[in-house]
Amino acid sequence: MKTWDVIVVGAGPGGSTTAARLAMAGCDVLLVDKERFPREKPCSDVYGRYGVDCYKEIGAYDEMVAKGFVFPDLALTSPDYTELRGPNLLSLTCPRRVGDNILKETAARKGATVLEQFWVNDLMMKRGQVSGVKGKFEGRFVEYPARIVIGADGSHSWVAKRLGLFADNYDEVFLAGRAYYANCDPPLRTMEVHYDPYFFPGFVCLSPHPGYGDVVNMGIGYQMTPYVQAKEDVEKLVERFVETSPYGEKMRKARRVSEWMGWRVPSAGQIGKTYAAGAMLIGDAGSFVDPFILEGVANSVRSGGYAVQTALEALEKGDFSEGFLAAYEERWKAKMKPRLDMLHQLSVVARNAEMLNATFQGLKSNPGALKKMFG
Ligand SMILES: Cc1cc2nc3c(=O)[nH]c(=O)nc-3n(C[C@H](O)[C@H](O)[C@H](O)COP(=O)(O)OP(=O)(O)OC[C@H]3O[C@@H](n4cnc5c(N)ncnc54)[C@H](O)[C@@H]3O)c2cc1C
Repeated sequence: MKTWDVIVVGAGPGGSTTAARLAMAGCDVLLVDKERFPREKPCSDVYGRYGVDCYKEIGAYDEMVAKGFVFPDLALTSPDYTELRGPNLLSLTCPRRVGDNILKETAARKGATVLEQFWVNDLMMKRGQVSGVKGKFEGRFVEYPARIVIGADGSHSWVAKRLGLFADNYDEVFLAGRAYYANCDPPLRTMEVHYDPYFFPGFVCLSPHPGYGDVVNMGIGYQMTPYVQAKEDVEKLVERFVETSPYGEKMRKARRVSEWMGWRVPSAGQIGKTYAAGAMLIGDAGSFVDPFILEGVANSVRSGGYAVQTALEALEKGDFSEGFLAAYEERWKAKMKPRLDMLHQLSVVARNAEMLNATFQGLKSNPGALKKMFG
């Protein structure tokens, strides 16, 4: 049976961009996903700025902009309504059903073989090294060998579980959910994130979609530890935000036009080992989500970029050992860890309203720090 250079498990933004880049570099790459696309992914639909260079490199950005919305600015508030506002140049909102499909199609166009409704349920192993995937495809149990497997299979990652690298620390894992609403008044254009007193210690996120009947994606993020201890359910807290917060006012006459969908979000506060012999974990599978406002799309793409560099070197050298693939972790740590650490510190501050208020007030009077945050 054919041995692939790389099998990428999961065609979310991390997996599709990784497969596209590998194919562009001449690799024989297989991208598999258990869903049939286009598929839903609960999200506030923000494709953040750190992914943009990659979307441009693989030739997907123009289509994403055409189908999405480059919002002009971003507003963040703390529980005492201190507002931080900054311009946005590159990040965009696009329903994940649409944006992820563009990225998956791009991977196929660039030469990756894409198999949908391929459910990976185990890894092939040879002499202690990952040597492919096992799964169910077209009604049969199958085995597909590969030199390298990249786990991009999201926050419930089977690949991470099979490697013994799945982390689940309730202080660093969040519950997040979203629903779409019509008739926001006035129409929303700014991307908003509110650590509102009526939702604390979680946050509410409002994300605009002018190209889709002007629906607003209302999302929430709530750290698991207080969530499991909470006396009120999250839907009630959202209702209270809408009824009581000055930032909820524009949603008071809005009508919900979708179901609420929730999902597990593994933040980088719990990030651990992200590689093994023959395998690497990217995106949510490796807990790469920003712990402050739960931005994970761009981080899945960025971590995928470092996995691509490492995979190309490993294929050239013919070395897929754990020691060789450790270079992946060195790369992302050098480039991504300082920002992830800073956002983790902010997320710890965000567990205490007074501390978060003081931090926002400090940031507001510090243009340099603000520029770093939004720039
Ligand atoms: C409500 C909510 C709001 C959010 N808002 C934002 C936001 O606005 N901006 C942002 O940047 N991040 C946001 N996030 C986080 C963001 O959704 C994730 O960080 C991002 O989707 C990670 O991308 P990924 O490619 O790693 O994984 P995913 O996008 O989860 O993709 C994983 C893919 O793997 C497939 N898969 C899973 N298991 C298997 C298997 N066994 N076999 C084969 N395929 C499999 C899945 O079908 C899926 O397509 C939000 C999360 C939630 C829950």
